[in-house]
Amino acid sequence: MQHDSAVRHPHDQTFAIKLMQHLVVPTFVLDNECRVIVWNRACERLTGVFAGEVVGTRNHWQAFYSEPRLCLADVLAQGRADDLATLYPFHTEPSELGLGVRAENWCLMPRVGERLYLVIDAGPIYAEDGQLIAVVETLRDMTEHKKAQMALQQLATLDSLTGVANRRTFDEKLHSEWNRTRRQGDPLSLIMVDVDYFKPYNDIYGHPGGDACLKAVSGILRGQAFRAGDVTARYGGEEFAVILPNTDLAGAREVAERIRSGIEQAALPHAGSQIAPCITVSLGVASLIPAQDSHSGMLLELADQALYAAKRGGRNRVCCATQEMAAAAVPALP
Ligand code: GH3
Ligand code: MG
Ligand code: MG
Repeated sequence: MQHDSAVRHPHDQTFAIKLMQHLVVPTFVLDNECRVIVWNRACERLTGVFAGEVVGTRNHWQAFYSEPRLCLADVLAQGRADDLATLYPFHTEPSELGLGVRAENWCLMPRVGERLYLVIDAGPIYAEDGQLIAVVETLRDMTEHKKAQMALQQLATLDSLTGVANRRTFDEKLHSEWNRTRRQGDPLSLIMVDVDYFKPYNDIYGHPGGDACLKAVSGILRGQAFRAGDVTARYGGEEFAVILPNTDLAGAREVAERIRSGIEQAALPHAGSQIAPCITVSLGVASLIPAQDSHSGMLLELADQALYAAKRGGRNRVCCATQEMAAAAVPALP
């Protein structure tokens, strides 16, 4: 066939390699033993590593990482689909490894001197007898796009003053944790934290002083040894909330007491407090094992009642929701 003889023509291979050298897309090619056979100009520009340094070697990883590891093309060449998930947090289905795969990753880029977020495509090339002969890897620098996306996500999910989760994130998280723990039958706890005598603080130190104080308080909150999965949020104004999944009332009370004493020990001066020379907080704690017909609003209401009790009880203290509060909040089963 005309087409086959053209492909087999020795000059065509040289032509194909030359063509690849000039492609604007950063591209390299490995043979089936993971040796670099092509490293194009665009790849040199992206990585700062020259073709002469890597062609004929298995050192291509050095262009992207500071320690030896598999690149996406190696995964394909070696058929190591099982390693995909640990190597790349974002990737297409490994079941389609034979058809090529896409992955995304932050790469260290030692020669460039700054991290780049690369979108990587690797595609296998087979001989007519079905044998894998090479893998082509193409790279796209998506760093700017990724940074913009991360900044947008921060704007949408974090409180701009304190950097903790914002109210929207809190609402979503409380709702999703409530549903998750309801399915699993685990307890879910909530701590509401309110700064004592914050209105007089603003009056004395001014609004910017008040803002700085809220930043300091949230910093102390974040500094607590929360477990993975716990969420600290700014509920509104000078009120913060901490969601503690899989934590019972006793555990949540301990965390709350740690927060209370942490803030007290920070000794942020407060000349207008009626109970101490420094900033203090009151905390309300509630814990529920979500029932089938229940709503996350119940936990919020209970924690709020406990917070109110802490205020009435003299402030700078932790109060837990009582059985009576819970009985009043949770509707009786029919
Ligand atoms: P209590 O001990 O009962 O909690 O008294 P309080 O003065 O802290 O309570 P109150 O809720 O009356 O006052 C809260 C104040 O927090 C009022 C409001 O001006 C202030 N505040 C709310 N949001 C912000 C903010 O983002 N920055 C500053 N600086 N102040 C805020
Ligand atoms: Mg308040
Ligand atoms: Mg207050």
